[in-house]
This record gives sequence, C-alpha cells and structure tokens, in this order.
Amino acid sequence: MVDLKNWLNQQRGKGMLRSLRPVIRRGKGRLTLAGDETQELLDFSSNDYLALAEHPALIAAAQEALRRFGAGSGAARLMSGDLALHHELEEAVACLKGKEAALTFGSGYMANTGAIPALVGRHDCIFSDRLNHASIHDGCRLSGARLVRFRHNDLNHLEELLKEKRGVGTALIVVESIYSMDGDRCPLRELAQLKERFGCLLMVDEAHATGVFGLQGGGVIEEDGVSGAVDLAMGTFGKALGSYGAYVAGNREMIEYLLNRARSFIFSTALPPAVAAASLAAVRLIGQEPALRQELHEKIAYFKALLHKGGYNADLGPSQIIPILVGESGAALNKAELLKKQGIFATAIRPPTVPNGTARLRFSITRHHSPADLAQAAKAILESLGIERG
Ligand code: PMP
Repeated sequence: MVDLKNWLNQQRGKGMLRSLRPVIRRGKGRLTLAGDETQELLDFSSNDYLALAEHPALIAAAQEALRRFGAGSGAARLMSGDLALHHELEEAVACLKGKEAALTFGSGYMANTGAIPALVGRHDCIFSDRLNHASIHDGCRLSGARLVRFRHNDLNHLEELLKEKRGVGTALIVVESIYSMDGDRCPLRELAQLKERFGCLLMVDEAHATGVFGLQGGGVIEEDGVSGAVDLAMGTFGKALGSYGAYVAGNREMIEYLLNRARSFIFSTALPPAVAAASLAAVRLIGQEPALRQELHEKIAYFKALLHKGGYNADLGPSQIIPILVGESGAALNKAELLKKQGIFATAIRPPTVPNGTARLRFSITRHHSPADLAQAAKAILESLGIERG
C-alpha cells in the first residue's frame, strides 16, 4: 500500500500535485476563481472553441429534451436507455464525418478505452503516436495487443516499425489529427498511404478537429479528403461541439461490431437526453453555419500575428491550440500565476501529461475572444517571457 501522506507531500514538493479549484463562469469566455471573485479572468483554457456551450440553440434543445424525456436516460442503450434522439444524433454525426454510421459513448475517454480493445487483442499489434492522449494509451493497454509507439508525427519511424513489427495479426494505427497539447497536425494523407501498404486499420481521434477544420466542420479527415481511408473516426461532443459525450464513426459493419463488443458502450448508461439533444443541435449548427468556423480562424490568425509581431519567434502551429513552451513544471506554474495577475487564465500543462522538460502554457483560442482580449493576452505572454517589442 502506498504511503498516501508521503506520496502527496512528495508531489507537492515537486510542484506536481494536482488539485481542484472551482471556477465561476461569467459567460463570454470570462471566469472568476472561487475565493477570488473580484478578479475577472479571460479564459484561455477552454476547449469550447466555437463558443457553442452558451449558444441559444444548444440550450433550447437541451431544455426541450429535459422537459420531454427527463434528466437521465435510465439505462444502457442495449437495455431500455435507447432513444430516437440517440439515433438522430448518430445519423447526423455519421453524415458530418463522411461515414456510414456512428455510435455514441459517454465520453471520449470511454470511446477510446472501449473501441480500441474491441478492435485488437492479444495476437495483434497497435502502432500509436507517442503523444497520443492518455485515453488512447489506456485503450491500447487494455486491449492486451502488442503496443509499438512511434516518434511523434514521424512517418518514417512508423514505416520502419511497420516493416519490422507488423506481424500477421490485425494491425491498428492510431493517431490524433490535431494533438491536444501541441496543437500540431498529423500528416493524414501520407498516413493513409502507409495504412494501405501495410494492410492496417486506421483510427483517428478528432477530439480537437471536429467543428474546427473541414469545409463542413467534419475535421481534418474531411479537409484532407481521407475520410474513406479512416476505418474509425473518433471525436467528442465536449469540445468544439459545446456539449458532452463522444462518438466513433465508421462503416455499418464496424459500428454494428462495436455496438456488440465495446464494453464501455455495452455496460454504461446512455447519454442523458438533454446532452444528446444539445450535441445534435451543435452538429447541425456547425454544418449550417461555416461562419462560426471562419470567425474562429480569423481570431487564431490575429493572435498568432500579434505574438510574432511582438518578437515571439518559435512556431505557433497550425491550430487553435497554441503551446507556449516553458520547460520545467515550476517555471510553468510561475508564469501561469504571472498571467493570472494580468487577467489571463491559461493552464500550465506539466509532466506526466507532457514529456519531462516540456512543461508549457496551453492557450486555446475560442470564438469568445475579442480582438482586445487577444491583444491583452499576447501582451501578457510577451511580458512574461521577457520579450516585449513592437
Ligand atoms: N481524446 C483527446 C485527444 C482528448 O484531448 C480528450 C480530452 N481531453 C479525450 C480524447 C477524452 O475526451 P473526454 O473529455 O470526452 O473524455
């Protein structure tokens, strides 16, 4: 048994103790922290990229479902929890992702830990990007398949490993299209070729891409035109879609198979009606209103331009997730505190979430941010890094 007190003290000493602090949402991307209600902060830590969580269409859809169907779904889908609403949502998601069918899960964590072990087992092999999200990693471990991790976004390394370790069983390649902590993008077209050459299944986690990329908001798989090569497109409703829960999309057989095999789907209560209804409203909105996406991309470009103009030379990546690398955990926490004093709330991301020595401040841009908000944040970042120019 771990000595709990000792462990907690050690973590505290290393600046690595996680703790919870309630926030009070003030709307429009602003929040205050409990105990410090006087200082309003601009929230740069939220994944609600399109600001849909507060959108009237989502709220109205959730209220209506709540009124009609109650607060909870009462059972797993395969028992009596299955509502027409879940099917409507799945059809809309399948259409958004350019696939035949989709299946919803309680969360992204559950989708990844349910789908991966359903697809591969002890005699199979998984090729997983080293920076894949913890939920993917846990799904891989749970599957019992041989796990081969390739260097982040390095397809030459992946190819070498495929040649060496592909074996004769099922091989699954799993990546994210936009990486959650680095904001960089997977070269999906090249990956699709590799997948064909080596006869693998390809699973792409689009948690941070759906709604943000693609002409219709279908993610990077849509933008890169590779939906057909992706066997399983996973995504969440809790980020750009402003709600909660997750899905996987694939061909009909794949989805029917997962419905029968993914344990986190089979043995878990169906998404609450209000949540499913809000997600459905969000899926419809992102298809119908490309202006939401355009506005977000304009804001991202503006923020990056401000940082570059101010003298920040490093690459800021291709997405709404902008990592400002700091190095050590303590330094990242200090800078986060400094920024807070200037009214900016950004989370310090530290090991073990990211590799040692790469602690960072993670900024995510959302549609809530006004040009003035972005200017305030850019100025504060440049000051905290000691590079003020322009
Ligand atoms: N995949 C990725 C890439 C993520 O960033 C996250 C959430 N941070 C998840 C999966 C898990 O999704 P959820 O929060 O819905 O469990």
